[in-house]
Amino acid sequence: MDLLKRVLMEERKPRERIQDFAPFKFGYDDIKVKEEATRCLHCLNPRCVKACPVHNRIPDFILKVKEDDIKGAYQILMDQTILPEICATVCPHESQCEGACVRGIKGESVNIGAIERYIAKYMRLNALDKVQSQKKKDLRVACVGSGPAGLAFALSLAQKGVQVEIFEKESYLGGVLTWGIPSYRLEKEAVLNIFKKLEELKVITHLQHEVTDLNELKDFDAIFLATGAEIGNRLWLDNEDLPQVYEARKFLEKTNFEHRLDNAIKNIMVVGGGNVAMDCARNALRLKGVENVYLVYRRSREEMPAAKEELKEALEEGVKFYPLTNPAKILGNQKLEKVVCTKMKLGDKDESGRRRPVATDETIEFAVDALVLALGFKVKDHHFDLKTSDKNLILVNEDMESSSAKVLAGGDVVNGALTVVSAMRDGLKAAKTILKRYQYE
Ligand SMILES: Cc1cc2nc3c(=O)[nH]c(=O)nc-3n(C[C@H](O)[C@H](O)[C@H](O)COP(=O)(O)OP(=O)(O)OC[C@H]3O[C@@H](n4cnc5c(N)ncnc54)[C@H](O)[C@@H]3O)c2cc1C
Repeated sequence: MDLLKRVLMEERKPRERIQDFAPFKFGYDDIKVKEEATRCLHCLNPRCVKACPVHNRIPDFILKVKEDDIKGAYQILMDQTILPEICATVCPHESQCEGACVRGIKGESVNIGAIERYIAKYMRLNALDKVQSQKKKDLRVACVGSGPAGLAFALSLAQKGVQVEIFEKESYLGGVLTWGIPSYRLEKEAVLNIFKKLEELKVITHLQHEVTDLNELKDFDAIFLATGAEIGNRLWLDNEDLPQVYEARKFLEKTNFEHRLDNAIKNIMVVGGGNVAMDCARNALRLKGVENVYLVYRRSREEMPAAKEELKEALEEGVKFYPLTNPAKILGNQKLEKVVCTKMKLGDKDESGRRRPVATDETIEFAVDALVLALGFKVKDHHFDLKTSDKNLILVNEDMESSSAKVLAGGDVVNGALTVVSAMRDGLKAAKTILKRYQYE
């Protein structure tokens, strides 16, 4: 075994996997997970732990895997996390734990995410991850929003015996985990497993209940706002309101839930360079009848914010990538016909430290039947009179407390569109604050 290289996992070939929305990475089996675990150097000062947003004790749970003690490994994981299978699957490991792994200096970093996923999935499949509630406490809290921040908050407090009620404006739980992250990247059973746990813990869920005034929750002892960031940025071009122009959220919700679009489409353009754009482009490829998926991005390929792995997978699946290309005109009469793009070049550095894209005189036209705008998300304008930043994010202290005594907040509504693990961490912190406040911890 070459210790500098990762133990490979089985996965479906790109041509085969774009035929459906099923997961294509099968993860490690019982033997391979131990082989990969032996690659961990068990550093005395583990950089991976520092780089993990929740400081998972990575070398410790990997050691338990080596010792064949998966239950022990799971217990170590659960000291710091509450959504291990989800984070193991979707965390941007390359910029977190795996990016800091010492094994990665000379060779390939340890596949920490896949080892964590093996542990959590093993526990789920063998029904060993049961939750239990402590004695009921005289404390009733409301959680607004059921994405990873809300789920972590609710799950953690319900296990402590706190009565939790979730208010969710959609007809389903999960936030981005349900409408946004496609099932070929995140097994939906892992998410459904969390909902099942909430049910077992008797958390009350109010679906299709949008909270618009916090007064309606005044009888609760505390309120956690985890409403996310879900307003898509726009191009602000003429014809952007044509029915074939989709904002990323609308496109992902439709294609993730139904695996189809309304109209018979052959050519789709996706605009953007982040992970959301990759998900849109890869969903587009999986739709029946689609022949070409163009991904246009105004900066260069090196500057794309998408994870390297996502980009690689999108390219090998057949997304046609056009860097330094920016939509200038959307053409069509009642129906989208064409997008005219300006070719860009790189200028001086801008405030983000990246070289600014500058328009050239050159244009390029794409005949397309659908256009998807994946230009990032921002938070809604109103925040129930709480103090907010100039970017409209709710301001909180270290303990996730907002400017109103009863109200805590976390996740994207506080951080801006960020990551699942940061949302989960906030939910856990807010839960801890409430327990401390009422002297239960
Ligand atoms: C397509 C996509 C792919 C992504 N991929 C990854 C990835 O691979 N890895 C990663 O780490 N991160 C990823 N992210 C980012 C990550 O999903 C988010 O950072 C995370 O979901 C934020 O969690 P949250 O709980 O704060 O908000 P959300 O998940 O947005 O949940 C907010 C919830 O609040 C509800 N809500 C809003 N307002 C109200 C109201 N007034 N009343 C009641 N309910 C309300 C919403 O309906 C929603 O269910 C992705 C994001 C997108 C959009």
